[in-house]
Amino acid sequence: MEDYGINPQMMQNIERVMFTPQQIQTRVEELGNRISRDYAGKSLVLVGVLRGVIFFMVDLMRSIDIPLEVDFMSVSSYSPESRDMGLVRMVKDLEISITGQHVLFVEDIIDTGLTLHYLLRTLKTRQPASIEVCVLFNKDKRRLIDMPIKYKGFDIPDYYVVGYGLDYREKFRNLPFLGILKADVLQNGID
Ligand code: 5GP
Repeated sequence: MEDYGINPQMMQNIERVMFTPQQIQTRVEELGNRISRDYAGKSLVLVGVLRGVIFFMVDLMRSIDIPLEVDFMSVSSYSPESRDMGLVRMVKDLEISITGQHVLFVEDIIDTGLTLHYLLRTLKTRQPASIEVCVLFNKDKRRLIDMPIKYKGFDIPDYYVVGYGLDYREKFRNLPFLGILKADVLQNGID
């Protein structure tokens, strides 16, 4: 397996690379071009949830060539069980007003859809002119709530993936590719 010059200590926790940095970059640019065309002549606000979305947001912004604003929220789960039920608490709200604005909700990964459902519901109460979803990695195997996703990067199978901003216990976000975490890391922790 190509190691992309990554330190072996991190690489030994990775089962395989699902998408290379080049594959991700190409797809993100395609999404950015579509978004630029669709929102031409409008003002756009990109909204993301920290911290997993950081790589995607930066690359996507660079690929969009219309005027835009960007802002972030941060959520936290009350407990792992409550996260599974989509009960999240907003710990950092947006700083800009989205009322009357065209909002694009940018997400790194959607699994059950519960987190996104909760956040969209909250944002809609602020009466944006429109609100659409852009997700890079879509795992729909465990989807509990049907989500209208206008812009989608990749459909992926139900593995725990890390890299390109995505973490396992806050680690591995800095891997430049999307990789499948080894099953024994999920069971026994990081080597
Ligand atoms: P959902 O509410 O859609 O089930 O969960 C969404 C959140 O779960 C994502 O924003 C992400 O934080 C986390 N998540 C779900 N699947 C994965 C995965 O395969 N890898 C990582 N790193 N996080 C995931």
